[in-house]
Amino acid sequence: MVQFELSPAQKELRARVREFAVREVLPAAWHYDEKNDIPLFLLKKAFDGGFMNGDIPARYGGRGLGCLEIAILTEEIAAACPGVATSIFDNSLGMAPLLLSDNEPLRERYLPAIAREFKRICFATSEPTMGSDVASLRCTAERQGEDYVLNGTKYWITNAGVADYLTVFATVDPEQQHAGIGAFLLERGWEGVSVGEPIPKLGQRCSNTAGLNFKNVRVPKENVIAEPGKGFVLAMQTFSRTRPIIGAFAVGAARSAMEYAIDYVKKRRAFGTKLANFEAIQFKLAEMYQKVETSRLLVWKSAWEVDSGIDPTVSASIAKFYSTEAALEVVNDALQVCGGYGYTKMFPLEKLLRDIRLFSIYEGTSEVQRIIVAGHVLGSYQPIMPPLEDLPLIRGLDLNDESARNTPAWRCRMCGHIHYGEEPPEECPSCFFPNTAFKKVWPAA
Ligand SMILES: Cc1cc2nc3c(=O)[nH]c(=O)nc-3n(C[C@H](O)[C@H](O)[C@H](O)COP(=O)(O)OP(=O)(O)OC[C@H]3O[C@@H](n4cnc5c(N)ncnc54)[C@H](O)[C@@H]3O)c2cc1C
Repeated sequence: MVQFELSPAQKELRARVREFAVREVLPAAWHYDEKNDIPLFLLKKAFDGGFMNGDIPARYGGRGLGCLEIAILTEEIAAACPGVATSIFDNSLGMAPLLLSDNEPLRERYLPAIAREFKRICFATSEPTMGSDVASLRCTAERQGEDYVLNGTKYWITNAGVADYLTVFATVDPEQQHAGIGAFLLERGWEGVSVGEPIPKLGQRCSNTAGLNFKNVRVPKENVIAEPGKGFVLAMQTFSRTRPIIGAFAVGAARSAMEYAIDYVKKRRAFGTKLANFEAIQFKLAEMYQKVETSRLLVWKSAWEVDSGIDPTVSASIAKFYSTEAALEVVNDALQVCGGYGYTKMFPLEKLLRDIRLFSIYEGTSEVQRIIVAGHVLGSYQPIMPPLEDLPLIRGLDLNDESARNTPAWRCRMCGHIHYGEEPPEECPSCFFPNTAFKKVWPAA
């Protein structure tokens, strides 16, 4: 049976985080957006409330939530402010490679600190010269004895300015591409680590984004999350588990935009009636709701795959690019429905529009998601229907008639013309290809 109903525990979690989002995050978000600053106190409150690091397993002092629970709680926080949601979820992104690695002693050393103290951990693959093409990263990890020494720059790193720990992907040799990449857990206070100034952005201005620079940073062998050669796959496995959550960001933001639009059209009057009475407006609302619901289903399915141990790569990509692009349409339509007010900073739509624009860029652009899904469709996807050249599309026989039912049918592999008889024709009467183009498709073998 397919189960769409949340459990009592999941409903309780949603109710608690909903209250946190509406009471704490919503009122504060606009101030920090204008200041281009991260509201660390909100992250602390999220930490205290159990809404940060939820995915740390209980054996390390965490709550052991699944990806579905993280999606549920992230939707609520993003509904209040996508930037704050990004900052809070960044710990899960930063920890994911460690959780997926086979370095148990490293997990035992760092995860309890992250679970019990208010520690932040960021995730760094991107660099000034590459983002989508992870295999071309240039930050180097040179082996010295059993340790590694890191040199290079990471860019666009969420929470870099406030992180205690850094999950960094670097290569023993940029020429080796995928085969040279490893992953390392660094501490912000280590010699040679420096953080750039916050990068000014269009939206999500209350999430911190900055560069990281490494000059001869010595990483002891104990802090290797993945040995060189294993880091690229680990980065991809990480994204497959975090992309459903980017989808959840989009669901939350789109849901809020829709709700603001509903409120406005029920009250605003034009041409002697409420806006809500115009069919053109009703259709926009219907499509907004359709997109929010569809997005959530895709997000939950991919999160369920993560929790069920099924490879979530394709579902996560579909959830990410569908829901983030749908959110852009929903928020844009909601702004339109609110007219001139929608365009102002006194209404919440312009911030949502700026904030959500990022969703189809970070953690793999929409184009990258399409590349992943196209690779699946053209590769491992198993079709149900026979190939075109085998299609028994019988048009000229009455199959109620037993003798007719046994008449052989030949299909031209070029144009699809069907010929009935014991032998194929000399040439196809439609495309003039010779009889070798014909394949017997009926009666079925
Ligand atoms: C606010 C913010 C926060 C971020 N946080 C983090 C973080 O915490 N950690 C981290 O590591 N990174 C982070 N990033 C980086 C982010 O993941 C990259 O920006 C993203 O992966 C795209 O890389 P890029 O910017 O280098 O674009 P590019 O890779 O240069 O791509 C430019 C454009 O070309 C398209 N393109 C590229 N290759 C192809 C192709 N083969 N076919 C078709 N189109 C293609 C892309 O889709 C994109 O539209 C963040 C970025 C931003 C803006």
